[in-house]
Amino acid sequence: MLQISENETSGLDKIRLTILGATGSIGSNVVDLVQRNPERFEVAALVSGSNVAKLAETARAVGASFAVVSRDELHDDLREALAGSGIRCGAGEQAVLEAASIPCDMTVGAIVGAAGLKPTMQALKSSTAVSLANKECLVCAGELFMREVNRLGRTLLPMDSEHSAIFQLFETANAAQVEKIILTASGGPFRESSIDELRSATPAQALKHPNWSMGSRITIDSATMMNKGFEVIEAFHLFPVDADQLDVLVHPQSVVHGLVQYSDGSLLAQMGAPDMRTPIAHCLAWPKRMETPVEKLDLAQIAQLTFEVPDLNRFPALRLSKEALQEGGAAPTVLNAADEVAVAAFLSKKIGFMDIPTAVEATLDKMRESGPKASFSSVEDVLDVDGRARALCEEWIAAR
Ligand code: NDP
Ligand code: MG
Repeated sequence: MLQISENETSGLDKIRLTILGATGSIGSNVVDLVQRNPERFEVAALVSGSNVAKLAETARAVGASFAVVSRDELHDDLREALAGSGIRCGAGEQAVLEAASIPCDMTVGAIVGAAGLKPTMQALKSSTAVSLANKECLVCAGELFMREVNRLGRTLLPMDSEHSAIFQLFETANAAQVEKIILTASGGPFRESSIDELRSATPAQALKHPNWSMGSRITIDSATMMNKGFEVIEAFHLFPVDADQLDVLVHPQSVVHGLVQYSDGSLLAQMGAPDMRTPIAHCLAWPKRMETPVEKLDLAQIAQLTFEVPDLNRFPALRLSKEALQEGGAAPTVLNAADEVAVAAFLSKKIGFMDIPTAVEATLDKMRESGPKASFSSVEDVLDVDGRARALCEEWIAAR
């Protein structure tokens, strides 16, 4: 029988926490768990992009020491919203980096997009552990980011549900016996749509994710399956496997989040209701576990779990991501930058749904012509490629 030590049953330690992207979908779920366990968390800093009202309300609710909005011009609004609270406030890129530099036990990286790269890299320097939702850090700058994690000896905890699943299943001591990692995908709102239906899909239709409630960019990326492509790249950097050991299966119920196949025939799966508070709690309590209000699975009620191979013709974004991973160098950075621009253009109805992967592929082709750098030695190198790819993708969209 397993021996249970005193330590394993004891309570969780108090931690000092910073949340980058505190007002978003992930940030709000982190805050929800913090508010349910106020004795466990001391909030050092909260960072948002432009939502001053929500930032101020959250900072007051959790008693944060420092609140920062990334847009300079919103400094006065934030000061006003926090008046009388005693909470220090800041605005602009430098203030964001200052918030990320405050020594703490854990920083949650939940800013959306490549905008999260600099602050999250900064947080690696001052935070013992970084819980990473911002997959763009690994898509745009995977090697650089992981080099920094290892150089500084930091703990990197995956918050993305599939990677949290794999993290729980991956036996490091038996890494050589891992044959395959399988990431599941819901298939999004267009899982059964024809190419013609996909061509005429509207932002409102694409924003209706069947199982998960998330920010708008990742919701569109889920509809194109670019998100799953990003997650393949993310998994490549997080776990010691080769690119061809990473598979994707469409699993519409979103109950199984990830699987690891071992050479002895065992296929391990992690299951849970599609609620981000489970992988978030796994990060916040690691290496222990904490209680959440997440609905517990009733497998008899669910009755059926189904799996299918993704269709790369209807979802070319997945193919593009796999090709970018194989190509390496700047290709994944270009992939993300072009996708950020294309998704924004789709949401503002400048391009159609199937134009998103087309714009990304055209940008990748153009960037190859100009010979992108093979590897990055600094965040500035990454942001330089990111900026050039954005400009090329904007040009492609304008020329349509
Ligand atoms: P949201 O769009 O809901 O939230 C994004 C957050 O980032 C907001 O707090 C926003 O502030 C902030 N932000 C935006 N731009 C900047 C900036 N320039 N500087 C500082 N802060 C900024 O996104 P999600 O919460 O859905 O996603 C966040 C990250 O987590 C993404 O990388 C996504 O891929 C990843 N992720 C999300 C999942 C989910 O379930 N939502 C699941 C797995 C991963 P403001 O509100 O003021 O605009
Ligand atoms: Mg995910």
